[in-house]
Amino acid sequence: MKEMLRDYARSIGLTLFGVASAERFDGLPKNVHPASILPEVRSVIVIGADIPRGNYRGVEEGTLWNFASKYLDQRLVLDMARTIEQQTHFEAVPYLAHFPKVAPRSRPVAPDRPMYNVTINLEYAAVAAGLGEISLLGQLLTPQYGNRNALGVILTELELEPDPIFAGTLCDGLACGECIAVCPARSINPDKTVTIDICGRQTVLAEINYNLCRLCPNGAAPDFINKVGQEELMVEFSGNQPKIVETSTALTRRNVPNIATAVCARTCLNHLEKTGRLTQKYVNPFRDGEPWRLETWER
Ligand code: SF4
Ligand code: SF4
Repeated sequence: MKEMLRDYARSIGLTLFGVASAERFDGLPKNVHPASILPEVRSVIVIGADIPRGNYRGVEEGTLWNFASKYLDQRLVLDMARTIEQQTHFEAVPYLAHFPKVAPRSRPVAPDRPMYNVTINLEYAAVAAGLGEISLLGQLLTPQYGNRNALGVILTELELEPDPIFAGTLCDGLACGECIAVCPARSINPDKTVTIDICGRQTVLAEINYNLCRLCPNGAAPDFINKVGQEELMVEFSGNQPKIVETSTALTRRNVPNIATAVCARTCLNHLEKTGRLTQKYVNPFRDGEPWRLETWER
């Protein structure tokens, strides 16, 4: 069954497919746990497609602000969920969410439920499904495409063989630090990192001043696609950092801008390609000089 679903995913243009068992989410709080959405969840399927490298070109040249989102087109997520249900007769929940104002906002619907719009962390799910690792910048890195990934998540009652956790290393962390060095706003603090365990992988995330990223003129954009609703309910910031509270953990940082095409992320992509880490190769390098950069006040 798993191979049939993988083949179907490939047939509709998906280039990433991985399966995590529900157990790989054990220990996560209710407000980010797949079982809060589907209590009988047995498998979490992560599908995705590479964002074309050309989609970064306009911003890299500073001439066209191409849009790039880490969220897969929802029609593909629905298509995959529909196929799982039709082929297996098990329920398959596409992880999509309505605008916050649609749901009751005053309290959870029952005392034993978390607040509405439980947030599945895409990057965590992808690591749990064996697709790659999370970088110092908090992006998913895959061995095929680096940080050029658009992802979708499906929760299902169907039991599938989980994929092995990715065992390689793509991000060299502070030993690389190119994303830190290139940021004109010095938003990434090399002296403050948090290490989290994801399915046995020690993942180091840098503390990032997202207030500065919001003003970044170097390719960052407001994240109007990636919001799934719960964000509206929270007071997210303590000082200039996202608050790490019950509803906002290191893995579910809210209201972060979309940095997919920002100079930090483009520099990371360039680094991964230059050092030969990625299996998807190109005839010409992504970058052949210094990137353009603007100071925040030049926005
Ligand atoms: S540039 Fe990329 S690989 Fe290097 S430290 Fe930053 S996130 Fe890691
Ligand atoms: S988005 Fe801009 S300000 Fe934020 S880390 Fe990247 S380059 Fe720096």
